[in-house]
Amino acid sequence: MPGKGKHRRPKSNPITRGFVLAGTGGAAVVLPLIGATGAHAAPAAAGSVTAAPASAVHAAPASVTRAAAAKTAATYRVVSGDSLSKIAKKKKVAGGWKKLYADNRRVIGSDPSLIHPGQKLTLGAKAPAADRAKAPTTASRSAERTALKKAAPVKKAAPVKKAAPAVKASAFTLPVSGIAIGTPYHASGSNWSSGYHTGVDFLAPSGTVVKAVGAGTVVTAGDGGSYGNQVVVRHADGMYSQYAHLSSITVSAGQTVSEGQQLGLSGATGNVTGPHLHFEIRTGPDYGSDVDPLAFLRQQGVVI
Ligand SMILES: [Zn+2]
Repeated sequence: MPGKGKHRRPKSNPITRGFVLAGTGGAAVVLPLIGATGAHAAPAAAGSVTAAPASAVHAAPASVTRAAAAKTAATYRVVSGDSLSKIAKKKKVAGGWKKLYADNRRVIGSDPSLIHPGQKLTLGAKAPAADRAKAPTTASRSAERTALKKAAPVKKAAPVKKAAPAVKASAFTLPVSGIAIGTPYHASGSNWSSGYHTGVDFLAPSGTVVKAVGAGTVVTAGDGGSYGNQVVVRHADGMYSQYAHLSSITVSAGQTVSEGQQLGLSGATGNVTGPHLHFEIRTGPDYGSDVDPLAFLRQQGVVI
């Protein structure tokens, strides 16, 4: 089906394409925004609003008019203490925090209450062309799904659904929201039988909701000896995540879970000196195959 590829490509990676054009094509240098301001400027100061160079660079090669380019979205850098609703109010975002969330779903992840200082959010008023080229919004994706459900047998509907999985596949989140990190990965000492800490500890008080960092299948749910009550999830990419010392478990082995789905509550079961969530990323289901869990999550686009 020649239609598929054609439909998908323009949607998939507009930013990259923009950078490639700017980097290799001499013509891109004359873009009005960059030329006029001389702005390879320093990154936006915390909390300030600037025209986004990336968007502008992207918009121009796509033969958008100068007027449209000028209207290209501004960005906002999240500062400590921000929430989506605060930012929406402060920046008068039409459509409020929900619109802000929908426009920045890929940056923020599955939990709109969890944003981090330093994250760059796109503020409304995007040029229509740039808007379309950006990642599909939640609304358009669910519309695609609806269309798929209603019209699955109709061949014409098929190309529409193709864009959906590419975006959803890489969705990852933190196992707990807004919790500080205690003992880091690979801390050394006598507390660990391997000689180093095989995971990262989140300083979660008992009863904190513990979530699957990504979609997958529960392979272990129960007593894990010194890990106390633990859950291990296998993800689509073959990696495993482990959640230990839980006070309660709400899933069972074999169960499929989605990104952000509750697995249980944190606690202090097993070999611990106090309540926390011990979290590991592994290349296999068992102890000893650990990798740096925060580095892994960052690779998946999670801002930590
Ligand atoms: Zn630990």
